[in-house]
Amino acid sequence: MKASVSVGDGALELRDWPVPATGPGELLLRMRGCGLCGSDIAKLMSGRAAPPAVLGHEVVGDVLETGAGVSRFAPGDRVVVAHHVPCFQCHYCRRGSPSMCRVFKRINLDPGGFAERVRVPAPNVEHAAFAIPADVPDETASFTEPLACCLRAVKRCGTEAGDTVVVVGLGSIGCLLVQGFRLAGATVLATDLLAERRRLGLLAGAQVLEREADLDETLRAGTDGRLADAVVITAGGAGLLPWARARVRDGGTVHYFAGGGGDTLPLALEDLYHHELTLSATYSSSPAELREAFDLLVRGAVTVDGLITHRLPLARLAEGVALMMQQQAVKVYVIP
Ligand SMILES: [Zn+2]
Ligand SMILES: [Zn+2]
Repeated sequence: MKASVSVGDGALELRDWPVPATGPGELLLRMRGCGLCGSDIAKLMSGRAAPPAVLGHEVVGDVLETGAGVSRFAPGDRVVVAHHVPCFQCHYCRRGSPSMCRVFKRINLDPGGFAERVRVPAPNVEHAAFAIPADVPDETASFTEPLACCLRAVKRCGTEAGDTVVVVGLGSIGCLLVQGFRLAGATVLATDLLAERRRLGLLAGAQVLEREADLDETLRAGTDGRLADAVVITAGGAGLLPWARARVRDGGTVHYFAGGGGDTLPLALEDLYHHELTLSATYSSSPAELREAFDLLVRGAVTVDGLITHRLPLARLAEGVALMMQQQAVKVYVIP
């Protein structure tokens, strides 16, 4: 089969790759499509996934083969699957940190979504695979994993009905976060430097404010001057922390949904201490959040309209990476 292979220094090559053998409890998928995630790009560019590697984890495919003992799925089923599954038993899992579980990252799709065939390990078949109803498009289902991460971020911000949240950056993650916070009952103000993304933020249900002065005035007026319960940063690195801090209330949260590429955070300890601020981050999700996200997408409670701006064949994945890095694409969807 063909796969788009990370070969080092951020380069991708379309190469032959062996079709994985299907073991007990496993599935072999014929790939239908896979979303390109910011984390794929970070792994590609940093070399964190040791080459040769096949990335891609927002996977939609048809079941081609089922391993011994698989009863939930049959050949021909259209499914969406995610890549990591925790052990459910260790200290991390029992303390609400499943994405820190040592088993979590060891379990992965084989070789990855940017290939013609993908083997789904047994734990993923059990906990991170969902049969897609006939009326739900592939692309909608492919947002299960990113939406799950956003739902986790909403929980980690401790958001309650009546809260006010500021979302910085209205790419696909920003737009999913806007909807997640709104489902939790929050009022969401949002901003982005790009007009097209501000339009997507409006569709997602945010009050989108282009000018900083307008955002600040709306924020102050809507919170009796307290400012935001949480400011969530999806784009930009450490440099945004002082900006975010200036817009969060005493006792509030600044939440990073971004890795920041090696940045160190500038924040006065005294400020953190006296104002009892919380700094937190989200980078992945649990099986429970995957289920929640899948159900919301199937019910149409979260819209992904307009978020996929480019559809490319496997051979043009590198072009997709460049489009996303240059912010010309909101989200790229790869079709083998
Ligand atoms: Zn992802
Ligand atoms: Zn665990």
